[in-house]
Amino acid sequence: ELFAPERRNSEGFDLTDAPTLSMIDTARDEHAKTEFTGQPLIAGKVKGLAPRLVANPATGARVGRITDASPEDVDTALSAARPWAASSKERAVILNRAADLYEENFGPIFALLAREAGKTLADAVAEVREAVDFLRYYAARAQAISAAPAGLFVCISPWNFPLAIFTGQIAAALATGNAVLAKPAEQTPLIATFAAGLMLKAGVPASALQLLPGDGATVGARLTSDPRVNGVCFTGSTETALIIRRAMAKHLAPGAPLIAETGGLNAMIVDSTALPEQAVRDVIASSFQSAGQRCSALRCLYVQEDIAPHFTDMLFGAMEELKLGDPWSLSTDVGPVIDAEAEEGIRAHIEKARKEGRLLRQLSIPRNGHFIAPSVIRVKGIADLGREIFGPVLHLATYKAEDLPKVIDDINATGYGLTFGLHTRIDNRVQEVCEALRVGNIYVNRNQIGAVVGSQPFGGEGLSGTGPKAGGPEYLARFTQPEPAALSA
Ligand code: GLU
Repeated sequence: ELFAPERRNSEGFDLTDAPTLSMIDTARDEHAKTEFTGQPLIAGKVKGLAPRLVANPATGARVGRITDASPEDVDTALSAARPWAASSKERAVILNRAADLYEENFGPIFALLAREAGKTLADAVAEVREAVDFLRYYAARAQAISAAPAGLFVCISPWNFPLAIFTGQIAAALATGNAVLAKPAEQTPLIATFAAGLMLKAGVPASALQLLPGDGATVGARLTSDPRVNGVCFTGSTETALIIRRAMAKHLAPGAPLIAETGGLNAMIVDSTALPEQAVRDVIASSFQSAGQRCSALRCLYVQEDIAPHFTDMLFGAMEELKLGDPWSLSTDVGPVIDAEAEEGIRAHIEKARKEGRLLRQLSIPRNGHFIAPSVIRVKGIADLGREIFGPVLHLATYKAEDLPKVIDDINATGYGLTFGLHTRIDNRVQEVCEALRVGNIYVNRNQIGAVVGSQPFGGEGLSGTGPKAGGPEYLARFTQPEPAALSA
């Protein structure tokens, strides 16, 4: 059921192949200085706010200019929105064409991902693949659905996957025939304008896909409290999801779906039977890749006490190998965090730990740009974290073998339930731990990031989201009208 044999995931690029790498580098380099522009894409006349500059988080250099949507533009778009009147097959042809355009335009897309979102090349390659996979996967699956579209869907996407999640939400809503009003994150409107442009170029009608860049107050709040809207798909913080839920309850028709993918306080347990080299590599990837700016990222690592001294030595040694810097450089492993506000918040958290004598390790960072040095902070357990720290900060706790059940209870008690990692070679333990934990995605003896569309549906429980899981077989049904109830009352 999960695997659609007629559909294959995108091949992406093999970055270990030198000719491929230099081909990518050349294509990307053409856009090293391009001044990108973005604006509302609506089926009507754009009024727009005064344009603002978008800066590169690693260098501060200018990436381009964005014209955000004005309140009038939001209204124009709402009035012009029309569900996509085409068969699911016709829609699939167009969404597949959009996927092809994404793959063909890798040069400007990789440039934008690095310059606007601070993405390393490895992250950018993965992100384009995921976006393409979402387009093709939902296009294929929608053909098995006969239900009518919900109507008008609002898609509010985050800056940390400015292409993949932006595209995934829209692709799901469009594949099922909805009209989409998309609000991209304020930090990444240029990549959103570029991507929406490709979808329109592929043949999505202008009245079925409209882009409204802008902030939460001007655009997001207006959209989620307009009675013309039939459903909302949101990825971002748990706090914002709750605000949206309230606005929808007040202004939208009862039962209008909210599909929310929110935060996590994700843990990993490494027991004394784990393979240390593998576990170290997976801890590094889970906590520091994408500068920790994934909701799936590892935040709190529990290492069994017996192996902790040796394990942490290896971990700190491996951290020293990480290269920090401008993601434009092909050798960069860890880029910047997204903006000054993010930098300040994470830095304050680290400084507090330093004052309390709990900062165990910290790398050194480039002087300019919004960089946070990958850091390891000692905690007694996950409850000490308090909130999700969205950056390259790992919290480390040790546990005694007999306390494992308590560790599991503590992880469940956070109320979040997104990802979890387990490193062990005891089969029974895998089963016991997986059964006891209430989280959406569990990864055993590997890293806990980078869920793959179509084979690892992604989404959490509790404070981490509403479900259904993105990239999975149940996702699309929530974008359609519920089947009429049976005759019985
Ligand atoms: N799907 C991504 C992953 O598995 C995380 C998405 C997010 O950060 O919102 O790593």
